[in-house]
Amino acid sequence: IVKFQDVHKSFGELEVLKGIDLEINPGEKVSIIGPSGSGKTTIIRMLMTLEKPTSGKIIVDGDYLWHMEKNGKIVEANEKHLRQVRGNIGMVFQHFNLFPHMTIMQNCIEAPMHVLGLSKKEAKQRAIEMLEKVGLADKVDNYPVQLSGGQKQRVAIARALVMQPKVMLFDEVTSALDPELVGEVLGVIKDLAAQGDMTMILITHEMDFAWEISDRVVFLAEGNLVEQGPPSKLFENPESERLQSFLERFS
Ligand code: ATP
Repeated sequence: IVKFQDVHKSFGELEVLKGIDLEINPGEKVSIIGPSGSGKTTIIRMLMTLEKPTSGKIIVDGDYLWHMEKNGKIVEANEKHLRQVRGNIGMVFQHFNLFPHMTIMQNCIEAPMHVLGLSKKEAKQRAIEMLEKVGLADKVDNYPVQLSGGQKQRVAIARALVMQPKVMLFDEVTSALDPELVGEVLGVIKDLAAQGDMTMILITHEMDFAWEISDRVVFLAEGNLVEQGPPSKLFENPESERLQSFLERFS
């Protein structure tokens, strides 16, 4: 459902991704691990269409992200095309990014009403269903400031789910949380993963969590995809020295 073909990305002189080939199947749960600065967030930001690759192609659910097919040719995508493909992708960030001046309900219905064109009633129904999933249906009238960090992050997850994306991206969603709040957020993500259908791509520094939740783990270092495979293989029998030394830090 997601495909990277020889994707390069540079910021000025700095080449952050040096030719990434990666294919993710529908329903697959994939964790991306790697040292700081290896390009993990850049991968996710490109999927979210927040960054454009310097070269190479990215496909989500059959649609080219930055390119489109026109008269049998692959050409640069326009804004309308990008808006359309963005709808398939949901994202949860490290810093929640909830709108502070809106209630939890308003936060959850804003995008489905304005992007998907749902009526307020339909959007609210979906929002309640998703807030129930993350255990926060009783907070609909609260403002973000009244919630703990863990609760805010669970709202951010519900808000992304309301859009019914085909692919969910999670970028270090627990790294801004106090340690005692990490568990509740990981629990919600584990429940989501256990429900099956949704494709999930996670960047995480929580190796136990990555092991438990992932079908596949991808190790990125210095802009290269160094090694990938099932978590048991990567964590128990890493092939590359680069991954071995990375994992030693967590043991
Ligand atoms: P971390 O685990 O610290 O979040 P990461 O693996 O996610 O790291 P990226 O955030 O993808 O790494 O960043 C890779 C490199 O690209 C870093 O050196 C970063 O400073 C640089 N970088 C990212 N975004 C930009 C930008 N908009 N302009 C310039 N440099 C950038």
